[in-house]
Amino acid sequence: MTDAATMAGLDPATLNDLLRLAGSDGFDRIQDQIRRTGGCTDPIRLQGSTVTRDAVTGHVLHSYSTDTEPGGVLRLACGNRRASRCPACAWTYAGDTYHLIRAGLVGDPAKGTPDTIRDHPRVFATLTAPSFGPVHNRPGTRPCRCGTHHPEDAPELGTPLDPESYDYAGAVLWNNHASDLWRYFTIYLRREIAKRAGLTQKAAREQSRVSFGKVAEYQKRGAVHFHAVIRFDGP
Ligand SMILES: [Zn+2]
Ligand SMILES: [Zn+2]
Repeated sequence: MTDAATMAGLDPATLNDLLRLAGSDGFDRIQDQIRRTGGCTDPIRLQGSTVTRDAVTGHVLHSYSTDTEPGGVLRLACGNRRASRCPACAWTYAGDTYHLIRAGLVGDPAKGTPDTIRDHPRVFATLTAPSFGPVHNRPGTRPCRCGTHHPEDAPELGTPLDPESYDYAGAVLWNNHASDLWRYFTIYLRREIAKRAGLTQKAAREQSRVSFGKVAEYQKRGAVHFHAVIRFDGP
């Protein structure tokens, strides 16, 4: 027999849950919450209440309690940036980042960045960790150094060819200090620009601005690297 769940491509437990949800009292509100969390996979469930009173009369101006919400909770998007944790929130974040970086490159007058910045000097740079030892990889059409053509999703990709000699400590230290290294990079870059322009740092700060937009990513070998847009706004 072909039951309803099989026809819908669901297992019976999921179909039962769906039917129970769709038939429940607060379904419209649940749908509203799901829409407002952007389809978050694992929303944060808030419980509590808030009351706003007039400071003079003590009159209640506004009150809200999650008691009136379906299941007694208010759902908020988790906001996780990793697609493996929450595809919906990671997608939203990627879109936000795209618009932010784009505005920094070509301008967005509606958000206070004039179009004229598109002619300012800028660099798109990738800042990558040094080698901690050779790892299994897919160097174009050639085989890996181990002699194998690894498939794209091979679990050994990014792992050391020789675990005995791989600088694990260096790799861990790199990741641990990545945000400090980035911070020092921005400090030294500003210093270097001032020096080359023959200005003191203070004078350079008053006459120009160096703006950074960066995204941190894990490489296959597990090392953090940065993609950065660096823009120079001069006098
Ligand atoms: Zn989420
Ligand atoms: Zn290999």
